[in-house]
Amino acid sequence: MKIPFSPPYIDNDVIKEVTDALESGWITTGPKVKRLEELVCEYTKVPNALGVNSATSGLMLSLKWFGIGEGDEVIIPAYTYAATALAVIHIGATPVMVDVEDDFNISIKGIEKAITKKTKAIMPVDIAGWPCDYDELNTLVESKRSLFYPTHENQEKLGRILIISDSAHAIGAQYKNKYIGITTDITVFSFHAVKNVTTAEGGAVCLNLPEPFNNQDEYAFLRCFSLNGQTKDAFTKSKAGGWRYDIIYPGMKINLPDLLAAVGVAQLPKYFSTILGQRKDIFEYYQDYFLTKPWAILPPYQNSDKISSCHLYALRIKDATENQRDMIIDKISKEGVAVNVHFQPLPMLSLFKSYGYKIEDYPNAYKNYKAEISLPIYPQLTEKELNYIVTVITNAVESTL
Ligand SMILES: *Cc1c(COP(=O)(O)O)cnc(C)c1O
Repeated sequence: MKIPFSPPYIDNDVIKEVTDALESGWITTGPKVKRLEELVCEYTKVPNALGVNSATSGLMLSLKWFGIGEGDEVIIPAYTYAATALAVIHIGATPVMVDVEDDFNISIKGIEKAITKKTKAIMPVDIAGWPCDYDELNTLVESKRSLFYPTHENQEKLGRILIISDSAHAIGAQYKNKYIGITTDITVFSFHAVKNVTTAEGGAVCLNLPEPFNNQDEYAFLRCFSLNGQTKDAFTKSKAGGWRYDIIYPGMKINLPDLLAAVGVAQLPKYFSTILGQRKDIFEYYQDYFLTKPWAILPPYQNSDKISSCHLYALRIKDATENQRDMIIDKISKEGVAVNVHFQPLPMLSLFKSYGYKIEDYPNAYKNYKAEISLPIYPQLTEKELNYIVTVITNAVESTL
């Protein structure tokens, strides 16, 4: 049996929506993006959502919006995908890495220790779709107001550290009965091909800024800034008589095309009505099975405050060394099941090593990583395939430890 890790969910409705965009005569940013943004707002209840061409660029845009640059520090977890750190590096600021907890998410105590006079933003990551402790985070930045030194008008206006959540994994996850998106200042979703909802490449910047910000105004600014700082988008300019425009900001070119947004327009309602539930069913299937295995550490799924979006099933093998985990993955791969590791902690990657980050400073990130195996989780998986996956994993683990 061959089981891929994370194929996209493409059905007739997706094909119909994409065909509609193709036949409409308009393929870049226009009505489909608008519709996708409306759907994100409708389902997650965020005041405003801006479609962008990736979560990475959405994070950069958010950092730039807050006037963050050289000399500033942005706190991120050491355990995440590299894009979290690269977004900070691209805008010229310094990522400050903090270790994570046993639930894979950034340590709030660690953040508190890492805050300095230079800290301008914190970028928590809802790893695997498990929400961070947003109440604690929001309270923490409030309590550090006196240590905040604004150097930009939006910084003056907020008067504290900004929280930009890298929620690439977490659309549909819940925190205290709210969907991720209205849980902090800015939330960025990814619609990359392997994420829960996809547009092949893409993302959304969700605005939930407190007073005195007007989210609609900031949305209008960001929309313009994401399109070269141009006063008219190509769609408006394409209308007769609409030729004249101006460039009013040193903007970026990170808009989402309609052709891609169409995939998300077809997927998003189905995700909330059906696909998310199917992911949860598979997650529960794995939980029930691995609960019976003394060597398995189950990933967080739900508690009284949080419900995961089940983006990854991050199994850990109790007491496995990195080497044993690698051997287990080799055995699983030989049986045709594609698994992954989420994540190699950033300080273990060459770039970050060359910057001087050391994995020894992030013992929990290493501990989580060395024993972790992410299993396939998507609605197309059949009961027979799931049964095969858990059998293959059990054999691989029990013949290795
Ligand atoms: C996928 C991912 C990103 C990047 O998303 P893109 O849309 O590909 O830019 C950022 N952070 C995390 C944690 C991710 O998994």
